[in-house]
Amino acid sequence: MTKPHSPFTILFLLITAYCLLITSSVHAQSPAITRNDAILDFPDTVTFTLQLDDASSIRSAALIYDLAQFTCLDVPSRVPVAVTGDLIEWQWVMTRSGNPPPGAELWWQWELITNSGETITTPRQTLAFADGRFNWQVVSADGIHVHWYKGDEVGPILLDAAVSGLQTLENDMGIELQSDVHFYIYGTSQDMRDAVLYIQDWAGGVAFNEYNIILMGVPPDIAESWGTGTVRHELAHLVLGQFGQSCIGGHRPTWLEEGLAMVVEGDPDSQTTSDLQNGIKNDSFAPLRSLNGAFPAHDSAASMAYSQSYSVVKFLLDTYGQKALQTFILTLANGEGYDEALTAVYHLNTDQLENNWRASLGLPPRQIPPTPTPLSAAQIPTIAPPALPQSVPTPPSAAASPSNTPSPSTSTCNLGLIPLLLLSIFGWRWKRP
Ligand SMILES: [Zn+2]
Repeated sequence: MTKPHSPFTILFLLITAYCLLITSSVHAQSPAITRNDAILDFPDTVTFTLQLDDASSIRSAALIYDLAQFTCLDVPSRVPVAVTGDLIEWQWVMTRSGNPPPGAELWWQWELITNSGETITTPRQTLAFADGRFNWQVVSADGIHVHWYKGDEVGPILLDAAVSGLQTLENDMGIELQSDVHFYIYGTSQDMRDAVLYIQDWAGGVAFNEYNIILMGVPPDIAESWGTGTVRHELAHLVLGQFGQSCIGGHRPTWLEEGLAMVVEGDPDSQTTSDLQNGIKNDSFAPLRSLNGAFPAHDSAASMAYSQSYSVVKFLLDTYGQKALQTFILTLANGEGYDEALTAVYHLNTDQLENNWRASLGLPPRQIPPTPTPLSAAQIPTIAPPALPQSVPTPPSAAASPSNTPSPSTSTCNLGLIPLLLLSIFGWRWKRP
């Protein structure tokens, strides 16, 4: 004989049945997704499309997307999109926002709210920003990936240069790569510039530091000359940026940033050597403090600023060792001021460091004003003028290939940060990227 159901059991069964009914009715209301994609028209737009079989039950829709990049505060973008039919579409127009570089990746998902208040979230999908104009090849080693399409030897030559630069960073400075780096090597600087909206027309390359991506225009005939040094130099900036990453506003003086990148380039070239000889002979070096901020905008002074920075960083490394240099970089990342960080690590302020460095070159101490003159103007990074500078020394090999002649620019590669994308744009320079 069956035991009669208790009132509690009956109540439980009724609630369960009600819940099942509600669930199935909601389910019946949920539309089927027949299409969910994102189509890239590089570098101008990404069109996100969600197609439903019947959108009548959908009250509102939002697209949520984010780029895979390093940021101190990562908040995905959320865009409400009007539901006017079964096709829900939104276009990200890069001409307004600037574009992520080739090799960047984004994810997206849709959030739909039904008339009954239920939230439907589609699974995350990803889209790679590929510059489909070219047939890319890639070579990789030690966390460095070189993508290129023009000149069979270009990729391997530049990869070798990057790997040797990384070895200098890791072995001589103890500054290690934290995340893989991708170089996209275009066959001409124009091809490279066409991949980036709003780039100066003199630019020979651009580093997207938060994506660990560097774009360069390297015609095959200057891969060995200009390309190798520039790859090492730009890699140094990027790896130093990873190592000394700061989310609390820590900065590095420009002489450290550029001097270190020049040390990574390798042995000093003839320009650097002659700058240093002249600086010693004429006692014409700039006060080191003046190289904390933007470098001079004109050729000979800019060249001297790089050469002097190289010499000071080499002195720091050779005299006090790599451990102190690492601590100095990390102390700056912690938000310490330049003098405070130097004092904490080397027991020297900027002026004392300068005089120790001068002594190593056989120069007398520079007379330091009792109160250091604040050089506030030099602290502001400036964007180099788009026009090419006058009276630029023409490198010998440039004459041989006028169509590929880099247009030298005296801008520092640490030109300052374009707020939107945090780009660092470097010009066509032979030895001063
Ligand atoms: Zn640089």
